[in-house]
Amino acid sequence: MAAGLFEKVLIANRGEIALRIHRACREMGIHTVAVHSTADADAMHVRLADESVCIGPPSARESYLNIPAILSAATITGADAIHPGIGFLAENAQFAEMVEEHGFTFIGPTPEHIRMMGDKVVAKKTVLELGLPVVPGSDGAITSFEEAEAVARQIGYPILIKAAAGGGGRGMKVARNPESLRDAYQLARGEARAAFGNDEVYMERYLVRPRHIEIQLLADSHGNVVHFGERDCSIQRRHQKVIEEAPSPALNASQRDSIGRLAADTVRQFGYRGVGTMEFLFEDGQFFFIEMNTRLQVEHTISEMITGIDLVREQIRVATGAPLGYDQSDIRIQGHSIECRINAEHPETFAPSPGRIDGYHAPGGLGIRVDSALYDGYRVPSHYDSLIAKLVVHGASRNECLMRLRRALEEFVIGGIETTIPLHNRLIVQRDFINGDYDIHWLENLLAGKR
Ligand code: ADP
Repeated sequence: MAAGLFEKVLIANRGEIALRIHRACREMGIHTVAVHSTADADAMHVRLADESVCIGPPSARESYLNIPAILSAATITGADAIHPGIGFLAENAQFAEMVEEHGFTFIGPTPEHIRMMGDKVVAKKTVLELGLPVVPGSDGAITSFEEAEAVARQIGYPILIKAAAGGGGRGMKVARNPESLRDAYQLARGEARAAFGNDEVYMERYLVRPRHIEIQLLADSHGNVVHFGERDCSIQRRHQKVIEEAPSPALNASQRDSIGRLAADTVRQFGYRGVGTMEFLFEDGQFFFIEMNTRLQVEHTISEMITGIDLVREQIRVATGAPLGYDQSDIRIQGHSIECRINAEHPETFAPSPGRIDGYHAPGGLGIRVDSALYDGYRVPSHYDSLIAKLVVHGASRNECLMRLRRALEEFVIGGIETTIPLHNRLIVQRDFINGDYDIHWLENLLAGKR
């Protein structure tokens, strides 16, 4: 689509992220179309959208992943563009292609870039050639156990076997010594095949105490790229993020500036467009690229809080072909922000806890943002991701942010189901967390009683 804003955007997602996108659209004067499964007929994103279309039964495969149903919904409602949100079809290159073939704008990068970064072997090779440091590992995919043995000898133990099509921490296995390599290799391939229908794996040195640092990028279709600094997402369980903060307590200004610039230069070189995130592991002052996500991320919120820029709005703007209209020097980082991901799960066993919300009160006040599609009486369905709310806090300093987070969690009431609020209450008062002294294994160690 040429210049000029969209009139109507179809949001091909659900839950808090569908609401997040709806909000950006409304503030831009854009009409929204919600799609939903039969399990989500009463969902907040459906209630708030200008129009809604039921696209299938509860199973995601038959609804939020049902490409023909989504394209039909866009056709009958006369949408100009489709926003894929996060998860579901957001990193599906074929979907992006079909959206464009049907005459809609895909609010995201080109299918080629989604495909390139979706294959982590190709992604690593590409950025390495463009000058980014990557985790030492195999040159490409590993095709036999013998090859795995040879590569492991070369890079040294412990090693990590990862799925080329990986995501969500699945298809990832550690081998600590030659004896455990065969099991790890076979388990990783099996898990990758089951999760992604593709058992291609590759190998990396397993870093023992890195932090997860990622750079938020935004590119228009005219070659302008800016970064929004980093997010520290080291508080993880099963390779999945639980708490994120920006800026990272581990980086100084010059490290921030240099990794941000490097990441922005890299995507500029391959002509990327849209929002995207380059993920790195950071250990002993060195950065190692692990992957790039070609979409909005759950934790984009904290970058918004410290820069004052609405990333979804920017994402929609660049999708229309509009130039950024500002450069790196206009992006200023102010204060500190932390996000807690609140899941419908038991805070100790992590067993899913869907069900009816009985009593809901979200915290408020200066510097508090709650991104959630919950309301009193809402029934959290059992069919989808367990993320039900993001508590996002901003403060002038990290200390102010921590104190504000503490009182916001105290105020938050989500009744009727189990949530991970008690887990967050526990984490944020730990001395290591207060000191910003943690790596990607910190939370698992704490939960295992090793701390
Ligand atoms: P996914 O796409 O499945 O999320 P990533 O490559 O982004 O996989 O890795 C997810 C997490 O797994 C990282 O944030 C980190 O905690 C851990 N991880 C990935 N690669 C390594 C490595 N080489 N060494 C140690 N931990 C790693």
